[in-house]
Order: sequence, then C-alpha cells, then structure tokens
Amino acid sequence: MNPASNLYQLQKTDTEIKKSDQRIAVINKTISNDKRILSAQQAVKSASQNVLKAQQALRTIEEKSKEVRIKLESSNAKLYGGRITNPKELQDLQLDVASNKKRLAAFEDKQLQAMIGLEEAEEAKEGAERHLEQTEAQTLTDHASLQGELSLLTKTRVRLLSERNVIIGSMDSRHIDIYDQLIKKKHGTAVTPIEDNTCATCGSTLRSATLQAARSPKEITFCPSCKRILFAG
Ligand SMILES: [Zn+2]
Repeated sequence: MNPASNLYQLQKTDTEIKKSDQRIAVINKTISNDKRILSAQQAVKSASQNVLKAQQALRTIEEKSKEVRIKLESSNAKLYGGRITNPKELQDLQLDVASNKKRLAAFEDKQLQAMIGLEEAEEAKEGAERHLEQTEAQTLTDHASLQGELSLLTKTRVRLLSERNVIIGSMDSRHIDIYDQLIKKKHGTAVTPIEDNTCATCGSTLRSATLQAARSPKEITFCPSCKRILFAG
C-alpha cells in the first residue's frame, strides 16, 4: 500500500471513531436528560393537590349548607310552634324562612358542582398515576435499548482504536504529522480520493503529472487547489 492509501484508511477509521464518540455522547446525554419520569411524578403531585382542594371546597360548602339548614329548621319551628302570635313577627319569620330556603337551594346547587369537581379531580389523579406507571415502564425499555447500543459502541470503539494502531504502526511519522495537521485544518477530511481525474472533494481537474505523482509508492501528493492529500485508489 502506498502512503496515501494508508492515510485514506486512517481517515476512514478516524471518521468511524468520531461517529461512535458522537453517538456515545448523544446516548449519555439522552439518558441523563430524560425527565419523563420526573415530569410524570410532578403531574401526579399536582393532581393530588387538586383533589385536596376539591375536597376542601366541598367540605366548606357542606358546612355552610348545614348552617343554613339549621337556621331554616329553627325558623320553621318558631313559625309553626304556635308560641308566636304577633303578626309582624310571624311575617318576619315567613320572610326569613323564604330567604333561607333560597339560600339552601343555592348551596345545594354549589354542593352538586363541588361533588362533580371532586370526581373529576379524582379521575385526573388516577389518570396521572396510570401515566406515571406507563412512563416508568417505557423509560426502562428505552434505556435498556440505549444501554445495549452503548455497550456495542464501546466495543466497536476499542476495535477501531486497535485498527488505528495497526495502520499507524506501518506508516512514516512525517506523513502522520501532515495528516494530523490537515485533519484539523480541513474539518476532518485530510485525504481526498481521485475520481475521473478530478479531486473528489473540491472538484478541480488534476494534471497528468499530479495523477502520476499520486500513485507514488513512497511520497504523498497534494491537490493543488484544496491542498488535501490525494488518494489514487
Ligand atoms: Zn482538491
């Protein structure tokens, strides 16, 4: 193999290593950023608070309703008890009974609404609890497959690194230095194949002397236009 061919192999291996590293980083980030369980737990907490509020609201209305009922019963008792005979007093009592009946009816309506509200809040809480259970199961499954992928990637990475060492071992260190510099300067593409007598990366047409030099078994040749190492294939 000529040096360009070795460098091309090295670049392919480095690209694979970089891809593995990127995927490993994404997986690690995905796992650590997974807030699904946390947000499902928060939803349960907030639904539970809503149930407590609805229970409190219902209790308050029930208490008020009870107060009015007691007043109504007492006014009724006085009205029909026969002890009050004064017409003005009787008229006041009648007005009082009528007004408390109205208030009681209004409270009973509110009580019904509060009971419906409580039922809805309890249903919402049950829904949130079911969602939390499903989320926990789903997260476990998702992470299991990500963990599996992670362990495969780690093995692949070890293999690629050992392949890299084998490639480098047979190469001239001068060429490796040039390659390393170009990789940094040229955004990961230091070696470019030749396709139809042109540089596959920048597209410039290569002269026959350059094409011939690119086939040298000892030296490397650069694309005159983009300055990358040419690989004749
Ligand atoms: Zn070029």
